[in-house]
Amino acid sequence: MVGNALVPQAAPNTACSRPAQLPKLGISFDGWRSGRWRAADAQPLGDAPKMTISIEILNADWGGGMPTDIEVVVRSVAVCFGQALAERPIEPIRVEPTFHAGDPPMTAFERTPSGQVRVLINARGRHWAQYAHQFAHELSHVLANFRAPLRHPWKWIEESLCEVASQFAISCLSRSWQTSPPYAHWASFASAFTQYLGEHYSKPEHVLPTGEPFCDWLGSRLHQLKLDAGRRADNTIIARELLPIFEQDPDAWRAVRYLNLVDNSQVLSVAEYFRCWRQATPVSHHRHVDAVEGRLTCRWAIK
Ligand SMILES: [Zn+2]
Repeated sequence: MVGNALVPQAAPNTACSRPAQLPKLGISFDGWRSGRWRAADAQPLGDAPKMTISIEILNADWGGGMPTDIEVVVRSVAVCFGQALAERPIEPIRVEPTFHAGDPPMTAFERTPSGQVRVLINARGRHWAQYAHQFAHELSHVLANFRAPLRHPWKWIEESLCEVASQFAISCLSRSWQTSPPYAHWASFASAFTQYLGEHYSKPEHVLPTGEPFCDWLGSRLHQLKLDAGRRADNTIIARELLPIFEQDPDAWRAVRYLNLVDNSQVLSVAEYFRCWRQATPVSHHRHVDAVEGRLTCRWAIK
């Protein structure tokens, strides 16, 4: 049959039909395919040859932390996201200390002249769990193809996914460093990751109010989250609800690689946001988008 009536055609004026505003890349994904940006320092991760990522640690004052050690930690985090890194090429990353130790960690929108994404971390010294927590969050923005506009009503979903990444990475390292730490004498740090996550979860602001169902709580916070996506405590509670999706099937991170590939900044409803995400995502990963949508929309709580 010609003109398959079973396949919905994209309406020309739907929110998801808008072309994505491409980030200011010093490199391009097409360039990667031709080998143009296969940076010389992109190193294989794990056994799969496709799992490569280029990470440079800025040789700066890290409050006593050695750049070589910091690189080992953030590469260890990257291994936790091996499936996502194998899914699509990722921009090269340069990790830098924030200007002041009190400045918040962030991913800078402007790339370096050589096309690296600047990830700024405020961890210092040898607080490996803090490095891991912050780097995983910012890495998740890179996985999610972060781009302008940085603020729109649904940005809190990406921010919450980045907090999932932090919890996922800390949990991952607490297991992997037990049996295969980067250095043999670092195996003892595995328990420090467990302790860090436990303390993070035990903070009152990171726990749902007693007796309040998640969907009721989320509905009550929605207005504030639309105004301020980076409400860290709220992001953390939302992330705790989403974490099981990624713990049960780390392939769910593959779907995150397709977030923001169509312009989702003008969507009117959360359903449209997920429709845009799904539209850019291979069908084989739709179930992961569905899972996140199902948990966040609560079927009725968010319109
Ligand atoms: Zn963030």
